[in-house]
Amino acid sequence: MTHPGHPHIAWTGGELHVEQVRVAELARQYGTPLFIYSQAAMLAALAAYQRGFAGRRSKICYAMKANSSLAVLQVFARAGCGFDIVSGGELERVLAAGGKAADVIFSGVGKTRAEIARALEAGIGCFNVESEPELEVLDEVAAVMGRTAPVSIRVNPNVDPKTHPYISTGLKGNKFGIAHERTLHAYQRAAELPHLQVVGIDCHIGSQITESGPYLDAMDRVLDLVDAVEAAGVRLRHIDFGGGLGIDYRGDTPPAADALWAELLRKLDARGYGDRELMIEPGRSLVGNAGVCLTEVLYLKPGEQKNFCIVDAAMNDLPRPAMYEAWHGIEPVVAAAADASATLYDVVGPVCESGDWLGHERRLAVQPGELLAVLSAGAYCMSMASNYNTRGRAAEVLVDGDRAHLIREREKVSDLLRGERLLP
Ligand SMILES: *Cc1c(COP(=O)(O)O)cnc(C)c1O
Repeated sequence: MTHPGHPHIAWTGGELHVEQVRVAELARQYGTPLFIYSQAAMLAALAAYQRGFAGRRSKICYAMKANSSLAVLQVFARAGCGFDIVSGGELERVLAAGGKAADVIFSGVGKTRAEIARALEAGIGCFNVESEPELEVLDEVAAVMGRTAPVSIRVNPNVDPKTHPYISTGLKGNKFGIAHERTLHAYQRAAELPHLQVVGIDCHIGSQITESGPYLDAMDRVLDLVDAVEAAGVRLRHIDFGGGLGIDYRGDTPPAADALWAELLRKLDARGYGDRELMIEPGRSLVGNAGVCLTEVLYLKPGEQKNFCIVDAAMNDLPRPAMYEAWHGIEPVVAAAADASATLYDVVGPVCESGDWLGHERRLAVQPGELLAVLSAGAYCMSMASNYNTRGRAAEVLVDGDRAHLIREREKVSDLLRGERLLP
């Protein structure tokens, strides 16, 4: 059995391995909960995009909010990726991981003046502007610093990505981007402002998108705007189509990145924009299925209506089920014997919330002390982890072939208390 979509994460000889490493051994060494990532799986996911763009002028900017651990950024920086950031903190992470500021694009609806100033000082590649007032602030801050800010406008193409409402971003009711009808006006204003330089246009319609239709629709809408903006005399050097491609969590069948882009590039060529510099901002699809989270079974608690399998990972480590009712595969690290009797459990963590569950109604043959693997845990898990219930965040290991590197130590209680003050 393999992890969905990944030959690098598989049960070999009945036991889960990430590449050539037995994960049970890592749990023994570093404890649980423990995130384990396959570098080969990340690079394979990136390679699908690289194949899709072969022969084109293009830049892949990893949307690092999916997993912003320094060593993960380092893997993508070494592989030639740029980065899509959404905060000043993320910029510092890129720089600390050896990424180049010039390869950074800065998205987000609420950039502060301090974040803008720092990004200008570092020399980032582009600000993806999300409102008309942001254009004015960007111009003001750049003027004070004697700089010119490279800008792209994030347009809201008003297409339905057919995904969970919390992760759809390109509909009229969403807070993201500038409305399609206002875009031309915003570009005219940007072109007037003396400390801005228009460099591109961008969109991002949502996340965990599993069909190509919404991308094709968004591309048409964006290219209509490119036509209109350039007809008004504002030249757009690059076109950025955002991220959002889904992964297989539970038999989902998103198109492969190279197949999706073959389809999109046909449309782009047909509309005469095939030689433009292309940018994309994939997050989840680069890391999601490259990671697992190991957790130990603490207690089995049978009940009249439900049986609970209580594990040592919780909503603070793996927030997606609580936040989006998301589904993650949960499997024993050592495959159960064929004759073992399985029971239906709700797999829950120790946090004091009924929303603290990792999986409902899972058929498992497990005993306390055994290890479970939560699958598809590479994206939007560690980067969303919190210290709720004063729980330290988990450790992380990155596997490369037969080597395992600890890339984040488990947080200690002293780390959690640092910075707090008692009253005099
Ligand atoms: C979150 C985000 C992405 C990445 O989305 P994925 O679904 O993880 O690919 C890309 N661009 C922007 C602006 C984002 O906010």
